[in-house]
Amino acid sequence: MSNRKRAVIIGGGIAGVQAASSLKEMDVTLISNEPFLPYYRMRIEEILGGKDVQSLYIHPRDWYEEKGIEYLEGNVSLIEKDAVLLDDGKRVPFDRLLIATGSQARRLELPGDRKESFVLRTASDAIALRKVLENADSFTVVGGGLLGLEAAYAAACDFHIPVNVIETAPYILPRQLDEDSAILLQKKLAENGVSVIVSGEIESADDHFVYLKDGRKVQSAVLCFSVGVNPGKDIAAASGIATDRGILVDSHLRTSMENVWAAGDAVQLGDRTFGLAVYAREMGIAAASSMMGEAVDYVPSEPSALLKVGGIDVVSLGLLRGEKIVEASGDTRKTFYVEDGILKGAILINDKASMMKVKAMIGREYGRA
Ligand SMILES: Cc1cc2nc3c(=O)[nH]c(=O)nc-3n(C[C@H](O)[C@H](O)[C@H](O)COP(=O)(O)OP(=O)(O)OC[C@H]3O[C@@H](n4cnc5c(N)ncnc54)[C@H](O)[C@@H]3O)c2cc1C
Repeated sequence: MSNRKRAVIIGGGIAGVQAASSLKEMDVTLISNEPFLPYYRMRIEEILGGKDVQSLYIHPRDWYEEKGIEYLEGNVSLIEKDAVLLDDGKRVPFDRLLIATGSQARRLELPGDRKESFVLRTASDAIALRKVLENADSFTVVGGGLLGLEAAYAAACDFHIPVNVIETAPYILPRQLDEDSAILLQKKLAENGVSVIVSGEIESADDHFVYLKDGRKVQSAVLCFSVGVNPGKDIAAASGIATDRGILVDSHLRTSMENVWAAGDAVQLGDRTFGLAVYAREMGIAAASSMMGEAVDYVPSEPSALLKVGGIDVVSLGLLRGEKIVEASGDTRKTFYVEDGILKGAILINDKASMMKVKAMIGREYGRA
């Protein structure tokens, strides 16, 4: 019998796959409840345009075999102290366990008699959405965040139908942009067939329209929610692991249960939950190190977002607080946020080339590049 430790990972998303490829000298089993090999979740809107899921696979099936990673399709329903239980009754023993169960898209309960609504979180969601959009005459996305805008833009390009985005805030991407940059982006979206409705409070919905509190009605044959995610903490909570909004971890990404770690969207570190691929990847690496016995403190990198909408690159870096300093020329606009002389964050419109340079300047004295 092998003396190697047996590591089990629940969830074949970015955190899970990253951890599986980072773990060394262990027998690794990766368990996923999706009917596909792990794929690039961030690119599922390409499925709306006709791509098949297989073209988004992170690795081909051979890769798992060559790496000695056992890939198991199944849904974990319970974690015991040294094994996980699957829905089909199978018991998979572990010495070290990583919970990388990601998150689930939220939906809103809308008054009215609308029968069907969608979310865009998995490849299966994208396939279902594509099917209805093929025969629809309008599409509405509730939520003007990064994912909502990407979905709206993709649908407008692929289906050439009126697309609306309803956002409750006074402008889109309020966490990543200032109002002037948001207005610039809204204009570009409008040129590409996406109408953005800001300060839009929904009152109700039926199968044809969404009705707003101010009396407007928005044509919505197909409706998709993009209103954030809930960390996937349910099986951890049901198994007696400490949770709050997400699965609680310490700085080594250990949960409250011995030999059990967690990483990615499912995690809560202090009072912070995550929801971005960059953190899932970082945590996958850090959790693997910690599972191999190395004492690494996980420190999340500065928040950043990169979006391309209507041909415009939008980069949002660091913290958007402090004094605003704008440099604009032609189509390019850079907004720097400076506090006590230190560069805290920046928004770059149409200037992706400066991203790495500006990122490196964050935390340093502004103007001393
Ligand atoms: C359309 C879209 C676009 C995005 N764009 C960006 C972007 O541009 N930039 C960015 O940083 N982030 C983006 N994100 C967010 C990013 O995809 C997530 O932050 C990232 O996928 C989180 O990785 P994860 O490994 O924690 O979880 P996930 O990728 O959600 O993977 C978790 C996996 O675990 C499986 N699972 C859950 N429970 C069980 C169980 N009980 N048993 C077995 N398997 C289970 C799930 O089905 C899933 O396959 C986007 C997300 C979406 C949906």
